[in-house]
Amino acid sequence: MQRLAAKHPGEAEYLQAVQEVLESIEEVYNRHPEFEKAKIIERMVEPDRIFTFRVTWVDDRGEVQTNLGYRVQFNSAIGPYKGGLRFHRAVSPSMLKFLGFEQTFKNALTTLPMGGAKGGSDFDPVGKSDDEIMRFCQAFMLELWQCIGPDQDIPAGDVGVGSREIGFLNGMYQKLAREYHTGVLTGKGMAWGGSILRPEATGYGALYFTQHMLDKVGKTLQGKHIAISGFGNVAWGAAKKATELGAKVVAISGPDGVCEIKDGITGEMIDYMLLMRASNRNRVQDMADRFPDKVVFAADKKAWTVPCDIALPCAFQNELSLDDAKQLKQNGCWCCCEVSNMGCQPDAIHFFLNNHILFAPGKAVNAGGVATSGLEMTQNAQHLNWTAQEVDNRLHHIMKAIHEQCVAHGTLPDGNIDYVKGANIAGFMKVAQAMLEQGTI
Ligand code: GLU
Repeated sequence: MQRLAAKHPGEAEYLQAVQEVLESIEEVYNRHPEFEKAKIIERMVEPDRIFTFRVTWVDDRGEVQTNLGYRVQFNSAIGPYKGGLRFHRAVSPSMLKFLGFEQTFKNALTTLPMGGAKGGSDFDPVGKSDDEIMRFCQAFMLELWQCIGPDQDIPAGDVGVGSREIGFLNGMYQKLAREYHTGVLTGKGMAWGGSILRPEATGYGALYFTQHMLDKVGKTLQGKHIAISGFGNVAWGAAKKATELGAKVVAISGPDGVCEIKDGITGEMIDYMLLMRASNRNRVQDMADRFPDKVVFAADKKAWTVPCDIALPCAFQNELSLDDAKQLKQNGCWCCCEVSNMGCQPDAIHFFLNNHILFAPGKAVNAGGVATSGLEMTQNAQHLNWTAQEVDNRLHHIMKAIHEQCVAHGTLPDGNIDYVKGANIAGFMKVAQAMLEQGTI
């Protein structure tokens, strides 16, 4: 860690992600001298390569704008590079390296043959028109297209990139590459190669994982109060499935504050979340304005101030601090499933574990999104579309398998399960073994 920190000064998120994994795997690693001999750790923590490019586009006022674009191809030991694109003003190489690193282990957990990657831009979608989004996506793809391909690297969405953006990106890719297959991006529209249930998959998968976790301790989701942070694609899918499974979603949040929904979120509100995301306003208060009788908005407050049984961070890295964890416990919360990538700060995770609050990390909980991307790739390769039932069955099966891997590698001598350890060891062992078998490259 010291060597890595000296080599990459100031890359806080990246170093945080690596530290968490190394702490979890230390014991197992020391039992495998062949990993040490092949310098697996030193190789695994560095991305295979990073592409950086300038993206220049013209806004609605006719002004020229310049952003930075990136693709971090992290690890291809178990399959082609796979991972989302993030458009957010704070995107930096450190952020994308942490996400690419996490993605490598997450993808290994899915049981599907996908390596890890991440990309994106410091382009800020807030307040942008649809035309501006399209022009930016086209300019971004002018550079990105040379780095990707259906057998090399398959990007998808992430924060700030949904099916609208994937549409604009795919249109431009086809124009440039003159390749008309459907498999270079996932999260596509249903009419042009997208998989049924991909939009819902991250949130649905997270709730399936939560169900397995609760089942292990003899509990169910029925009647439980759930606080969700965020109101984007992931929060939407989570709210939908949680409600369907009999839980009550009592909070959603945004950068402006939290919406408390005492009687639980309704189908109409869940549909409205999609409009809020598409508006690019980045304001959750719009929900309270639209449903004033049922929703109470509190400015500058987080979702973690609302009493709940289960907390589901669905927004951004490091969004849940130690103070938030303490407040959740004080208000009676007994389970936190991290749906955002690295959503909880390390001391918040330690607090959960030390206080016997059930906790599972993002790379296990949110893997249903990329897993369904993997299922989309399979359908594209077969030139077939599966039914919703078929995709949902497979997603169920994958989330169960991820939970089983966490249990197999994370069960402690006292019988409790350390899901952080379990997920990290399971992902690591698969990637490490694959790297070892393919020699020093
Ligand atoms: N961005 C999502 C993730 O963090 C999905 C990536 C994908 O579907 O390739 O896993």
